[in-house]
Formats: sequence, C-alpha cells, structure tokens
Amino acid sequence: MEIGFIGLGNMGGPMAANLLKAGHSLTVFDLSTTALQAAVDAGARTAASPREAAQTSEVVITMLPAAAHVKAVYLNSDGVLAGVRPGVPLIDSSTIDPATARLIGEAALKQGNPFADAPVSGGTGGAQAGTLTFMVGADAALFDTLKPVLAGMGKNMVQCGETGTGQVAKICNNLLLGISMIGVAEAMKLGASLGIEPNKLAAIINTSTGRCWSADTCNPYPGVLPNAPSSRGYTGGFGADLMLKDLGLAVDAARQVKQPLLLGALAQQLYQTMSMQGLGGLDFSAIIKLYGGEDA
Ligand code: NAD
Repeated sequence: MEIGFIGLGNMGGPMAANLLKAGHSLTVFDLSTTALQAAVDAGARTAASPREAAQTSEVVITMLPAAAHVKAVYLNSDGVLAGVRPGVPLIDSSTIDPATARLIGEAALKQGNPFADAPVSGGTGGAQAGTLTFMVGADAALFDTLKPVLAGMGKNMVQCGETGTGQVAKICNNLLLGISMIGVAEAMKLGASLGIEPNKLAAIINTSTGRCWSADTCNPYPGVLPNAPSSRGYTGGFGADLMLKDLGLAVDAARQVKQPLLLGALAQQLYQTMSMQGLGGLDFSAIIKLYGGEDA
C-alpha cells in the first residue's frame, strides 16, 4: 500500500520502519533532516511538505508531538488536507486532546476523507518491536479498513467509538498511570524508611491488593526490577514531561465536562515540580525523587 507518514520521531521513526518491513511503500515528511535520512535509509521516499506526502498516498498516518503540530500538519495550506485525494483515510496516532481530534475529523470529512484518532500505548519499545496497542476512534467500517495497516505497527487494535474516543481512552489510561506511579513511589519510599527491604516490600505488593503496572513492571525503587528504568538511572522509559503533557490533557478535558479531577490535578502539580527541578527528561517513575533520600 502507498502510505504517507508524517512525524518520524522516537515513535514515528520505528513505526514507519515497521511499515516498510511489512512491505508497504512510504512517502515521508518531518522537519528534522536526521529523522528523514533514517527513513530514507530504511527505504522510504521523502516529500517536501505534508501536502506532497499525502498526494500519492492511499492512507496517511501522522505521529506528532502535540495538538498544535497536528493542526498545522493537517490544516495549513501545505498540509495533508490540501493534498490528499478524496476518500483516502487519515490516521493520527499522536496523543492530543479529543476536541482537536474531532475538529480535524470534521474538516477531513467535509472534503470526503474519513479520519481516525488512533493514539498508542506501548512506548518506544513497543514501537520498535511492532507491538503497540492502538486505541481507535472510528466507526466499524473505517476501523476494518485501517486494521491491516495498523497491524504493521501493532499487536492490539481496539475500536473505542466515534472520532475522539481513542484520545479519551488514552488520556484516561495515562491519568490513572500517572497517579498510580506516585502511589507506588510513596509506598515504596515509606516502607524503605520504616526499615523493610525494598525487594521484599515489592514482592508483597505484587502478590497483594496494591499490585499494579507501576509496582510490578516499572517499580520506581532502584534495584527492585533489573529491567525497569529505575535500575538504570531512570533513562530510556516514558519521559516525565510527556506524562505532564498527558495529565494536562486530562485536566483540560475534565474542565470541559466540569468534572473535578482531584488526584489528577495533584499529580499534574507533582510532575510539574519534577520538571521544574530539571528532572522532566527522566522516566516518570523518577517522581520518587520528590520524596528525597540518597537511595532513589
Ligand atoms: P518526538 O518528539 O520524538 O517526535 C515528533 C516528531 O515530529 C519529530 O521528529 C519532529 O521533528 C516531528 N515534527 C514536529 N512538528 C512537525 C511538523 N510540523 N511537520 C513534520 N514533522 C514535525 O515524539 P514521540 O516520542 O515520537 O511522540 C509522538 C507522539 O506520540 C506524542 O504525541 C506522544 O505523546 C505520543 N506517545 C509517545 C510515547 C513515547 O514513549 N515516546 C508513547 C505513547 C505515545
């Protein structure tokens, strides 16, 4: 299939490489020449704009940092919508707010292009391994059309509902994840301060009711899990600044429906504190550093 791919960063780069490996033909665009070169080396053709990348494509995929970039790439005069042929489906896998996803979906549909928001979970490891989970805001027919393309980049695809609901699912999951990591950090730190061996405490939590992903897969206490970011200086995971961005999306979305987000708002402030202390580039489990001490 002829695919236009825009946004070749930490996630988009390996996703595009996997589509090439799956036998698709890619025309790519990014602002970074380094990112473009890596895609060319993997077998892609480059375009001079999102518009050009969309022109010859049978499906267009975008993987960009935030809503402002997504708006520009779709709606600008050299954007995707200016170049794409009618009927060609569009997929945005960036994590953005549901309202922007709906706005782009409406603009696309006006000119005859079905649009799906399809944010992912699985991180850079999942992007490289081709095992991402896609949370897809699309009707059943569009979902079925897109599934074979998404299968080149991921293992699980979930149809969430109408346009925007993929982003809703992503935001709610990361809201819970951001909060649960703080809870695990607080409990692990308290246990260590009160004298229990951290490995023992983690083993108990992980077979008890406190068990969760933040405890059993990404435990923030160094040395508990050899393969977790906490055991390699909090590098190579999900950056705290990205978590801060996602919590901001959740808090904004909650304001739109006038729902209080008590723990979410507090979590946002804690990750913001971490960022202000210059720790925003570390894995979000480094939130445990806010509790002080030499060991974490
Ligand atoms: P990134 O910053 O590594 O990559 C973004 C890419 O977009 C860069 O190469 C940048 O040059 C390009 N770009 C920016 N503006 C552009 C424009 N106007 N035109 C063309 N290219 C442009 O980000 P990432 O880590 O790949 O994340 C992408 C999205 O995926 C984000 O929304 C993020 O929240 C989400 N996400 C990231 C992870 C993760 O672990 N990194 C996990 C899940 C979801």
